[in-house]
Amino acid sequence: MEEARRSLERRIRAHLARGTLSLMLTDNRYTMISVRRETQGGRRFKVRLHHMFTDAGPSITRALARYVSHNDPEASRVLGEYIDANQHRVRNRSRRAARPRLVTRGRYHDLQEIFDDINRRYFGDTIEAGITWGPRNGKPRRRNSIKMGSYSVEDRLIRLHRSLDRAFVPRFFVEWIVYHEMLHQVHEVKIVNGRRQFHSREFLRDEAKFEHYAEARHWERAHLDALLTC
Ligand SMILES: [Zn+2]
Repeated sequence: MEEARRSLERRIRAHLARGTLSLMLTDNRYTMISVRRETQGGRRFKVRLHHMFTDAGPSITRALARYVSHNDPEASRVLGEYIDANQHRVRNRSRRAARPRLVTRGRYHDLQEIFDDINRRYFGDTIEAGITWGPRNGKPRRRNSIKMGSYSVEDRLIRLHRSLDRAFVPRFFVEWIVYHEMLHQVHEVKIVNGRRQFHSREFLRDEAKFEHYAEARHWERAHLDALLTC
């Protein structure tokens, strides 16, 4: 595996005009490619790739280099086709009829952008999960409760309720829900007195480290009625 990683890293680097590259292979179900570009002290690319890329040919490694260094749209198209053709190599594929389509861009909030930002600011880019808006609602009505966010351990997937993708919902509040769900990947579920404890004391302590913690809780209380009408 390490040999395969090094070989792929070398092959992509060969197509890079400048900058350094560090590559990590993943078995993520949702994110096949992620790139972090650092510009301090020379350009540096931190790239995570699904292991489906280990035996990619020269046209694909060239596309990877162009995508990594220039976010090149044509390269992105080539890579999209490669990923589609290699879907069978994505883990747990057989357990479900189809992978859910991830919808990250809402009308008001872009979840992938928020996820990447939070991942960098709070988690050193170590969280690996997909993120998506939940399904759209039908007619608006007043509900007794909604689940604003959820995290599926098995799928490594964060879902946010569509109710949050509205003009009156500030970004810090969406960030707060995303941050909470990301913490679930860090904190294992404990069994206390025979019951699963999702929010341990350590979890709550980390949760309070969110920059706008007090503000977010206050905002939630003040706008709960509007949030529940969706
Ligand atoms: Zn939770």
